Amino acid sequence: MSDCIFCKIVERQLPTKIVYEDDIAIAFEDVNPQAPVHTLVIPKRHIPTLLDIPEGDGMLMGHLFEICRKIASDKGIAERGFRIVTNCNPESGQTVYHIHLHMLGGRQMHWPPG
Ligand code: 5GP
Ligand code: ZN
Repeated sequence: MSDCIFCKIVERQLPTKIVYEDDIAIAFEDVNPQAPVHTLVIPKRHIPTLLDIPEGDGMLMGHLFEICRKIASDKGIAERGFRIVTNCNPESGQTVYHIHLHMLGGRQMHWPPG
């Protein structure tokens, strides 16, 4: 999608620190990190929200979670702990309408989230 910033990142049209890539997904550092580790994991395919994942395509999110696990190990925070967040639609705070998992870690997290 031409006006989607995450599609532009997939197409290398924006400078971004990419930490993982395969045929289906890509992971890169958040431009405004909320923790020492704040990596975004996205499908390469443009899907605006979680509600738009086609039925029968549930494996896609499992794949994104596997990438989060790998990033947690690579960054040395797997045992300490980390948090995966995904926002859906306005009241959640979603601002980029191309689905993504926030992989957050490297500091103590709090609950409930704001
Ligand atoms: P959301 O609010 O939709 O859950 O998360 C969007 C995230 O994308 C935010 O954490 C924001 O900092 C990040 N973000 C927005 N624009 C860019 C960008 O151009 N590059 C990168 N690396 N991250 C971005
Ligand atoms: Zn997109």
